[in-house]
Amino acid sequence: MDDQEFKKVIDEIGAVISAHQRFVLMSHVRPDGDAIGSVIALGFSLMAMGKTVFIINEDGVPESLEFLKGSEKVTTPPKDPLEVEVAIALDTATKPRLGDGSLHAASKAKIWLNIDHHISNPAYGDINLIDARKPATGQIIYELIKALGYPIPDETRDAVYVAVSTDTGSFQYGSTTAATYELGADLIRRGLNVGKINADTYDNHPYRRLELMRALLNTLQISDDGQLACWELLDQTRLDLNLQPDDSEGLIDMIRSVKGVRVAAFFEELHDGKIRVSMRSKDSGINVCNVATEFGGGGHALAAGIRMAGPLSEAKPKVLSALKQALASQ
Ligand code: 5GP
Ligand code: MN
Repeated sequence: MDDQEFKKVIDEIGAVISAHQRFVLMSHVRPDGDAIGSVIALGFSLMAMGKTVFIINEDGVPESLEFLKGSEKVTTPPKDPLEVEVAIALDTATKPRLGDGSLHAASKAKIWLNIDHHISNPAYGDINLIDARKPATGQIIYELIKALGYPIPDETRDAVYVAVSTDTGSFQYGSTTAATYELGADLIRRGLNVGKINADTYDNHPYRRLELMRALLNTLQISDDGQLACWELLDQTRLDLNLQPDDSEGLIDMIRSVKGVRVAAFFEELHDGKIRVSMRSKDSGINVCNVATEFGGGGHALAAGIRMAGPLSEAKPKVLSALKQALASQ
């Protein structure tokens, strides 16, 4: 999507928002900072305009993001469908990743808006604002709010910052652009407390996360050529340490950061017997989204994920072999 198309679709979305009153905003299961930040950001802007807004997430707000102002407005989906006209999916690469409960709760909506930055998004909305050039859905929301002249209450300001900061590795990844830093500058001018919000986001982990890191380090493996590193989280470790789903968020960056490593993979046994795979590439020549897609997953070229059938002893060699092939063909 180029700039011209981006502006055109934003105007279409603006027309839908103007013409309706009742909205439900949703994002993907196992939400991260961009997923929760984006729904809070747009939700509170719409509420400041007098719209009726429901904000739901299949798994609710993870403990690590409860500090965000406005996060109490994000609930798990109600049992019965909501009386809404418009459903807005944010940061969600495929419709099923919203979760069955959220899809049911949104089932009375007659218009679907799909706003995302995943290249693998198949455009499942009636209107699709999918811009893979943007490092975070939060940046797309910010640009939309600015372009349409919508209000930016404090909840929106802080949520945009957390969405963008978490999806850019604290404004570090190559996807970060001048516009991303300008966004940060604008939010600071609007009163954002940088020190506090970064401390809340990054220096506020439960002790069990460190215990998890110790357990992961005990499973660390690296290929002979030093290019592929991985570790794994067993279901038993989750039980032993009483882990929450978001405790492992970002830990894969530790193995990605090793000198010589080009691809990092994180395997996790889920309680339903499935395996969750997180992958990171440090090399623009190695597209982990393509590998994820082979196994029914998706994401971005440099950060992608899969949920696949277990057991770990079968899933792991299959994925490692595909990653080795991607490395060899490079
Ligand atoms: P993470 O490894 O942080 O969970 O995810 C990295 C990226 O891949 C995110 O953008 C996420 O949305 C995407 N992703 C993770 N798991 C899946 C999955 O099971 N299916 C799809 N389509 N995308 C995923
Ligand atoms: Mn995102």
